[in-house]
Amino acid sequence: MIDLKYCPLGFFPTPLHKLGNLNSNFPDYKLFIKRDDQTGLALGGNKTRKLEYLFQDALDKDSDTIITLGAPQSNHCRQTAAAATKLGLECHLLLREPKPMDINGNYLMDKMLGAYIHWFQQEEMKSKEEELINHLKAEGKKPYLIPIGGSNDIGTFGYARAMKEIKQQLDETGEKIDYIVFASCSGGTHSGMILGKKLFNLDHNIIGISITKDIDPENTLQDHIIKITNEAASLINSNIKVNKNDVVLIDGYNDAGYGVVTDLEKHTLSLLAKKEGIFLDPVYSGRAFGGFLDLMSKNYFPKGSTILFWHTGGAPANFHYADQIL
Ligand SMILES: *Cc1c(COP(=O)(O)O)cnc(C)c1O
Repeated sequence: MIDLKYCPLGFFPTPLHKLGNLNSNFPDYKLFIKRDDQTGLALGGNKTRKLEYLFQDALDKDSDTIITLGAPQSNHCRQTAAAATKLGLECHLLLREPKPMDINGNYLMDKMLGAYIHWFQQEEMKSKEEELINHLKAEGKKPYLIPIGGSNDIGTFGYARAMKEIKQQLDETGEKIDYIVFASCSGGTHSGMILGKKLFNLDHNIIGISITKDIDPENTLQDHIIKITNEAASLINSNIKVNKNDVVLIDGYNDAGYGVVTDLEKHTLSLLAKKEGIFLDPVYSGRAFGGFLDLMSKNYFPKGSTILFWHTGGAPANFHYADQIL
């Protein structure tokens, strides 16, 4: 067995296509993009793939109420609220303060989807989480907690299966991809790609661009990715075990901090919109694509390489950041 049971929430496979116009700036390379901004669930994004597994687990455990948490512009919270709606479950979102003055982007959609919203301050995250779980239980509900970004052992299967999907797409077109580049933040996209690479014997170099700085040197993003990849492998009784060498994370583009828009993101959002008609997002994919272009300029990738940028979604956040991205 190499897969868990999942409940369908998105439309797969997502498109895979060339970045035809941008490619003319880089004649020594072949550039592709994988469109997980088009997963189909309430404006799409990478969390849809993980939620297919997490919601199946919630249903298997007879849960009737979903709890998850994130920033007010969390794409994960939006997709979780949409999945809950689709499956007839109640959804509670714990959003990190400060509470925004304006109601737009993902936060607007959370409300439109009917999610119950609660606020917490970073340092009281755990206690607020527990308080909400106990409160819902006291009301007779069966809550199921999805961690930040859906990045645990179960969520990992979303991108493990995505690797099988891309393998099939590449087999059909005869293309070969040398590098996969994407935004890595809570780790579940990255862990899934690594697990899928091992499960399906793929040889792509998987390069995560780190979106936030590590806070705890004892529990870095790399540590978390290793941990959940290995836990996911043991869920399916696989003897796959990964270590530091399997997790490539590039750390030079997160100095400004999470959600802070710099010239890098601004320039990259504009470039992809004007050259390709593609909307990235200011927090994740804009930063990661900007990092990718910087790596190109530094000849990080050998000439002749074929590189796939995996678009993880997030465009709704552009509305919130409007005055900073233009
Ligand atoms: C959550 C998110 C990511 C990061 O994915 P992780 O699995 O949390 O590392 C990247 N891009 C977008 C748009 C996201 O919403």
